[in-house]
Amino acid sequence: MQRKGKIINIVSNIFYVEINEQVYKCTSRGKFKEKELKPVVGDNVIIEIDNEVGNIIEIVDRKSYIKRPKMANITQLILVISASNPEPDLLMLDKQLAFAEFLNIKPVIIINKIDLNLDMADKIEKIYSKIGYKVIKTVAKEKKNIEQIKEMLKNNISAFSGNSGVGKSTLINSIFTRDTTIEGEISNKNKKGKNTTTSVKLYKIEKESYIADTPGFSNFDIFEIPYKELYKYFKEFNYFNNKCEYLDCTHIKEEKCGIKEALQNNEISQIRYNNFKKMYEELKDKEEHKW
Ligand code: GDP
Ligand code: ZN
Repeated sequence: MQRKGKIINIVSNIFYVEINEQVYKCTSRGKFKEKELKPVVGDNVIIEIDNEVGNIIEIVDRKSYIKRPKMANITQLILVISASNPEPDLLMLDKQLAFAEFLNIKPVIIINKIDLNLDMADKIEKIYSKIGYKVIKTVAKEKKNIEQIKEMLKNNISAFSGNSGVGKSTLINSIFTRDTTIEGEISNKNKKGKNTTTSVKLYKIEKESYIADTPGFSNFDIFEIPYKELYKYFKEFNYFNNKCEYLDCTHIKEEKCGIKEALQNNEISQIRYNNFKKMYEELKDKEEHKW
């Protein structure tokens, strides 16, 4: 019998495939259409079930792919920063936003710990909501505004990312309730696996809604972006680069540059522009010193 399911976990060549709340242990002995293709967490697969044991025979509908950690079909990246303790790291946020745009995955920003510095939270919200990003301000510790996050998770496969200490575990724990998970609590697993694991598991929160338990993305992963393309992934820059004098404008050293003009007119945030420059230099350096 053939059925379609989703890989939610992989442990040493055993694939855990979920079909309507039921999890089948599967092997993958199939040869897939594209030779290089290997099933990863998040993949939708066709399995052949024989006596409760499944074999993956086909990978279908891969809509997005992240290399590290390997996962497919993530539809939403939830980027978490804190208003204070640790201080908001907007360079990291801009790196992750650009990475999300590069991967063509929708980013959402959560500013947590607004109880510690609401002014800061409002300031950051203003910058990013102006660009068109969804921003949710939370106090994870008190489950404040968690409903908004739950709403946003519906019909998505979401991965959380953010620096250590910003409150990701607290947020995820406040979203989960015991009876909505397939495999118990995410909390302990999340804590144990933090920074050490590179594997991913999907946790189902409701029908068609999953959270990926990932260690997040490091600087290293973000370095996949070619530096000459970086401006494309600063979403708001695309409204202004038609005014640049040169087609291959770097938006850094040129005099007549639409981005710099927009910066002068306060249409582009100085913080975002500074982070763009920093990232540009870092990526360029990396590319030029590559062997
Ligand atoms: P993670 O490393 O991103 O998973 O962060 P944790 O969830 O472990 O949280 C780090 C610390 O911040 C813990 O001591 C939490 O109790 C605390 N914390 C989490 N959310 C909030 C919040 O909204 N406000 C405040 N003041 N503290 C919080
Ligand atoms: Zn320019």
